[in-house]
Amino acid sequence: MPSEKAKENKALTATCVACSKAVSTETAVSLTGVEDGHRKAFVVCIPCANKGWRPPGFRGVYTVRPV
Ligand SMILES: [Zn+2]
Repeated sequence: MPSEKAKENKALTATCVACSKAVSTETAVSLTGVEDGHRKAFVVCIPCANKGWRPPGFRGVYTVRPV
């Protein structure tokens, strides 16, 4: 049953750019890549990041985190 709590949780979801799943922001990371020549933050879920997904132009270092 939907509750006020569920609505709050909905505000804390993001869509993973790699698998297109809605994920909690607590289980997603923002990786900076480049799109059309501009730096852009790509939100990806931790499982995808741990599998090696990186945005185009990613230059940082991603440390695998526990899910
Ligand atoms: Zn994902």
